[in-house]
Amino acid sequence: MARAGKVEGKVKRVRKSRVHIRLLREKCTGCGKCVRICPSGSWSMKGEDIEWKGMNLCFECGACFHVCPSNAILWRYPEGGEGVVYRF
Ligand code: SF4
Ligand code: SF4
Repeated sequence: MARAGKVEGKVKRVRKSRVHIRLLREKCTGCGKCVRICPSGSWSMKGEDIEWKGMNLCFECGACFHVCPSNAILWRYPEGGEGVVYRF
């Protein structure tokens, strides 16, 4: 039986220095969906511009990538091919 707090299986720690989310500004319409859905506050609006704050806050849930209607968010899996919590 697994002990509480112990993670079973293959888990790889992601190096936060490797950015795997990128905003393609030329595609962004400024709809703000990424700002509203992001659970970590990694996106914000500055006037009509979207600001991406980088990987430090990000949980790597992939929600911003999926919600963007303009394919303006480029997602590459973290090194090792797995996110910290989820994989889609
Ligand atoms: S992957 Fe999740 S936590 Fe990271 S920026 Fe996108 S919505 Fe926010
Ligand atoms: S969801 Fe996509 S199009 Fe909308 S503001 Fe975010 S990056 Fe831009």
